Amino acid sequence: MSFRKITADWLFTAAGAPLREGVVVLDEEGRVQQVGRREDFDASELEVHRGALMPGFVNAHCHLELSHMKGLVGTGSTLLPFLKGVVSLRDFPQEQIEEAIQRGDEEMRKAGIVAVGDISNKADTADVKRRSPIRYYTFVELFDFMQGSGADAVFAAGREVYEVQPGEGKDRKSFVPHAPYTVSPRLFELIRKEAPAGGTLSIHNQETPHEDALFKDLSGDFPAFFKDFGAAVPDFLPFGKSSPHYTMRHLPEPDFRLLLVHNTCSTEEDIRAVQAWNPESYWVSCPNANLYIENRLPRYQHFLDAGAKVALGTDSLTSNWQLSILEEMKTIARYQSFISLETLVEWACLNGAKALGFEQELGSLEAGKKPGLNLVSLDEQGQLWEGSEVEVLF
Ligand SMILES: [Zn+2]
Repeated sequence: MSFRKITADWLFTAAGAPLREGVVVLDEEGRVQQVGRREDFDASELEVHRGALMPGFVNAHCHLELSHMKGLVGTGSTLLPFLKGVVSLRDFPQEQIEEAIQRGDEEMRKAGIVAVGDISNKADTADVKRRSPIRYYTFVELFDFMQGSGADAVFAAGREVYEVQPGEGKDRKSFVPHAPYTVSPRLFELIRKEAPAGGTLSIHNQETPHEDALFKDLSGDFPAFFKDFGAAVPDFLPFGKSSPHYTMRHLPEPDFRLLLVHNTCSTEEDIRAVQAWNPESYWVSCPNANLYIENRLPRYQHFLDAGAKVALGTDSLTSNWQLSILEEMKTIARYQSFISLETLVEWACLNGAKALGFEQELGSLEAGKKPGLNLVSLDEQGQLWEGSEVEVLF
């Protein structure tokens, strides 16, 4: 068997400090045989690159089925008008939807993404996922606008989507709540019952200040938003606490991993409370979508201070300019540059793999894993810059 011995200016394994001029040895299938330094090898057998080598990226939050709405909802509208905008766009030809899904999957492969946590309200993406080399964890997303009387019917409809989506072989699936503000206690109960032990759930969390306002004291724009959709404000509101407390109350005895997605408004107190409730919580940030929709970013220092495990996602092409984890890393590097490239690689690779339960194979360059191999170009200082690009080496 012939091995490839690949080296670059830097090797980020995501499992230890970056190695200057590190070497990774891959077999023909891309399985890591060894990680070392150039002096351990005969120079003539090395494949030498400029830039940084790192594992394949994990996109912990995507809505592949929304790929056909690229560019149709304007930027900077804030979340509630954005959601109304998405809902008002209907009736696309099925062919157009399916082509966009296919293109989205290809775009992610070319961007060095090896696994995706994908939110699905429909079964449209199932065929593409089955054929793709990307490993998909499909989150069949449910919401009843907090109208518990409709929860059982919502769950039954979700079951039909669940049956069609792939969850065997390379892929996984589970039922998940959309967001605290759209899921009744009854629907949470149905989802909790089906949650796979050791599997993964996902929920949108604290994407707008109006979300906490709704739960704390029924202020903000959500009551009017419910009215627009013909939904009554449920009688257990106000709840008196921030929104993750509602999620925690209705997902008792967590034996699953939980992705909290966006967290633009999460405080350190919120983060610590969730971590204490479920140490297997992952904080998924989608910075470009946050800029697209709300023109704001989370305060990443809160997550570092609370020892939180951060992963990265792209959200959908309806709320982003592309599906690329490298572009998410570049945005963080530009606006909160105190976060090191080593930390960004851990977020982009290992934490995402752990969040989806794929860490046995993916997420770090360690002997025995088959995580994919990306080459990322850096500037003179060895940092990400506007022009950084990814080349998929395996
Ligand atoms: Zn989302």
